[in-house]
Amino acid sequence: MSALSGKVQTVLGLIEPDQLGRTMTHEHLTMTFECCYFPPAPGDETVAQAPIQMKNLFWLKQNPYSSHENLLLLQEISAVREELHEYRTAGGGTIVENTTQGLSRDLPCLKQLAKDTGVHIVAGAGYYVDATHSDATRKMTVEKLSDVIVTEILHGADGTDIRCGVIGEIGCSWPITESEKRVLRATAHAQTELGCPVIIHPGRNPGAPAEIVRILQEAGGDISKTVMSHLDRTIFDIGELMDFASMGSYLEYDLFGTEMLNYAYNLEVDMPSDSQRVKTLASLVQEGYEDSIVIAHDVHTKNRLTKYGGHGYSHILKNIVPKMLSRGISQAQVDKILIGNPKRWLTFK
Ligand SMILES: [Zn+2]
Repeated sequence: MSALSGKVQTVLGLIEPDQLGRTMTHEHLTMTFECCYFPPAPGDETVAQAPIQMKNLFWLKQNPYSSHENLLLLQEISAVREELHEYRTAGGGTIVENTTQGLSRDLPCLKQLAKDTGVHIVAGAGYYVDATHSDATRKMTVEKLSDVIVTEILHGADGTDIRCGVIGEIGCSWPITESEKRVLRATAHAQTELGCPVIIHPGRNPGAPAEIVRILQEAGGDISKTVMSHLDRTIFDIGELMDFASMGSYLEYDLFGTEMLNYAYNLEVDMPSDSQRVKTLASLVQEGYEDSIVIAHDVHTKNRLTKYGGHGYSHILKNIVPKMLSRGISQAQVDKILIGNPKRWLTFK
């Protein structure tokens, strides 16, 4: 048994799992998303380059990745700090901050935010999608990658002594690249060594989540301690969803607050509305998966903050929970989704 066993590791140190409270399992508090800039449609260049302003907010909601400024969440620390205070007031306890290598992870900033606000923050170890892998990362063996991840959890990351408490979000493209496969295998090896939680960002294809689970399983990963993120933009057929659910990972609906018509990264995707997300959660609960569901907003651009007319980090607690309760999900089931499931996932074995 390691010193981590039975505990949750936050940026301020180890805590008891019962201290977590309501938990958003997939958010970002400071990051850059320049890796995924998407050029504006012809005719939209002017609005794309304009500073963010009220009259452009609807455009930004539809085209969040075509404004450079919008991708710089790291410029908004004081707005984020305010929102975290609001999150606590709304009954929030913990945020899992999924920013990994490749997205400008800033652990000292996370530590300061946790101190300032009293929100428990769990930081992520490992690597985002291939497009952000450095040459050095691409050359590493599975063993070396696993060593880096283990060090980030046991000793600290980015040259600090601030420790990560979860592996991920581990980024995968579609098709999954060779470098991403090595990172997935390294993730499974590190998880075997540490008994820690893992969280995955799948590529945008309905077959991606199952393919990733197979790679992790073959490398010895513990799927029962693994969250599959972004299912709201990945699996749409309810039969396919139930098939995937039976593989045993946590099922994450983490784009609450995001409603758009044309999803730039995959135009075949019909991004669901929040009402449709709640409906899917109700179906999963009805099929017996209430112990597998976790939810979040995945805030990763400026326009998602309330400062810019967005939904912020408290939207689920303020607006989605009442909707869940009115659509056949009981209070006890809501508590599992917001408290019990994240707690079980985040506790080291
Ligand atoms: Zn994310």
